[in-house]
Amino acid sequence: MSATEYPRLDVIAVGAHPDDVEIACGGTLAQLVRQGYQVGIIDLTDGEPTPNSPGPEVRFAEAQKAAATLGVQVRVQLDLPNRRLFDTFEARVMLAKEFRKYRPRLVLGFGDKTPLASPDHWQAMQITDAAIFYARLTKWDEYFDGLPVHTISAHLYYSLGFGNLQLPEGAGHLVVDISETLQTKLDAVRCYATQFANVKEFIFERIRAAAMHDGTAAGYDAGEVFTSTRTLGTRDLVHFLFGQAPGDEPRKPPVR
Ligand SMILES: [Zn+2]
Repeated sequence: MSATEYPRLDVIAVGAHPDDVEIACGGTLAQLVRQGYQVGIIDLTDGEPTPNSPGPEVRFAEAQKAAATLGVQVRVQLDLPNRRLFDTFEARVMLAKEFRKYRPRLVLGFGDKTPLASPDHWQAMQITDAAIFYARLTKWDEYFDGLPVHTISAHLYYSLGFGNLQLPEGAGHLVVDISETLQTKLDAVRCYATQFANVKEFIFERIRAAAMHDGTAAGYDAGEVFTSTRTLGTRDLVHFLFGQAPGDEPRKPPVR
């Protein structure tokens, strides 16, 4: 098997269950696609069983529809067990293989526990952290079907946190402007009819409110928060602040 059989992706978002990444960072994924980047989603489990779903086939179809709504190029579903997800060697290797296949520059993953919700989320964070490391380890080919090593350059944490006013711990927070893709995000979450539509209709107002709150903090109509695992730095302060190169017309920062 060779990595070149798989399309190279710029960004991969990893969730424990189908719908995790849509809720946490669906607006950002849709925005990245609009900007021309290659984007993928990896669900560690099929998310089943759940109370109102008739079965994994229906849930899988919902996930495919949500991926199409966001416009992402690849969605992979691993067969690790829902509700019994644990950070094991085998789970780490399974995810690291996907990183070696699709060779992303940036990985978005869980950044905190979700008390009162699924403990799979915390395990997914541990698995993702480890798999990013495993993806680049040499002299270990026997565990990775001969897939070549791949070094991931950046790793950001996302948050599902509706139940906490604190930002997740980390070395820096940033907000991605999802003003143009908030509706796409909501449409993608709505694809999970067995999880939310009719059953938990309130979730859509909460997602919208959280996006407006987070976006406002950075001067946008809507946003999604990420936590950098490392302190963010720049060699070009003007480009960092204004997204422009030397010689471009001066632009104001995005504060209204
Ligand atoms: Zn979940």
